[in-house]
Amino acid sequence: MTEQNSIVLDCPLCRTRVRAEIAALLEYFGGEEDPGVCVTLARCPGCSFPLVGAQDDCGYQKRHGSMTQVWSDPKRVWPRPNVNLSGSIPCP
Ligand SMILES: [Zn+2]
Repeated sequence: MTEQNSIVLDCPLCRTRVRAEIAALLEYFGGEEDPGVCVTLARCPGCSFPLVGAQDDCGYQKRHGSMTQVWSDPKRVWPRPNVNLSGSIPCP
């Protein structure tokens, strides 16, 4: 099993995509009704700014003969991306 120690996120200060060093990683594997999520606290290697990424639950896939939790590509959740609200955010 490969240990993940870096994550690719956009740094708002460097204004580029960086491979940030993971400081803390929390996995929530979900329940019967709710999907899991993987939240990562990382540090930009260029400016040392903290970045928080989230990865969605992509379910379990068989790898090397055992079922492994698979996470989506990370997206930055903090600082909030300065983008207009997309259709992916449901209206209240
Ligand atoms: Zn940076």
